Amino acid sequence: MSVRGPIDPSSIGKTLVHEHILVDFIGAKMINNERWNKDEVMDKVLPYLDEVKVAGCNTLIECTPNYLGRDVVLLEKLSSTAGLNIITNTGYYGGSDNKFLPEHAFTETADALANRWINEWKFGIDKTGIKPGFIKTSVNPGPLTDISKKLINAAAITHLKTGLTIASHTGPAVPALEQIEILKKGKISPSAFIWVHAQNETDRSNYVKVAKDGAWVSLDGLNDENVGEYADHIDFLNKQKLLDRVLISHDAGWYEPGKPGGGKFRGYTTLFQKLIPELEKRNMSELEIKTLIHQNPKNAFTVAVRRLKNK
Ligand SMILES: [Zn+2]
Repeated sequence: MSVRGPIDPSSIGKTLVHEHILVDFIGAKMINNERWNKDEVMDKVLPYLDEVKVAGCNTLIECTPNYLGRDVVLLEKLSSTAGLNIITNTGYYGGSDNKFLPEHAFTETADALANRWINEWKFGIDKTGIKPGFIKTSVNPGPLTDISKKLINAAAITHLKTGLTIASHTGPAVPALEQIEILKKGKISPSAFIWVHAQNETDRSNYVKVAKDGAWVSLDGLNDENVGEYADHIDFLNKQKLLDRVLISHDAGWYEPGKPGGGKFRGYTTLFQKLIPELEKRNMSELEIKTLIHQNPKNAFTVAVRRLKNK
């Protein structure tokens, strides 16, 4: 589901699974869409979207949640102007000591929060008619707090009603494994879960464990300095026959309101210009590379309820 409506999964093309157009760190109490000028953001961001299009990318998945600068009207305009699919999200960002959670996230039940997210799927976001294409949540790096558990339960309820995939900003393995357990208790297959920022986990045996369980391992902090390291991770998972569980992206961008000219912007092309040539040098086949940047995003983000099969 893109900001311009549904797209056939087979036409998703090469996809960047975790990027940002605009992020505002002012916090849930202060944030509002008047803090940035859409035309100014468009002028700044469009050249970077043109760059990824030239690199052969068709789809960019925008991971900025509500209360952190999600502006779906802006995303729709950028998508139409650049001729690039953009996918946005529903859900709440519970990490960073809950700075980006609205008041009602603390007081409402998981069911009530899920209802808000389900309504965005059913009726569109903020009366725009623009629908989310996945659920984005976030938890702190340690064991899950009560509010994190509530957010994941809300995500589970939302998944069963909408079929939207859950991408959770997580980092280390401990909270990733806990979230997967919560989903399993809710009879949801781990294949509905994306372990975002898995690169922050240093023990690679945890990648194997999670991938074998069927969840997505998202290595999404690629930049010009860590191309070799990412190629090593990919090689390792390929040798374990788990390439079909891996997602790669930059977590790059973004226009930051409050900074002059939106601050420093990081482009989205390292994957195409540096990582793919490096993988080719390591004898990865065209088909394997296609799996990584086309087939896996398609499988991860196709809207479908994924129930746990009884063993
Ligand atoms: Zn991010």
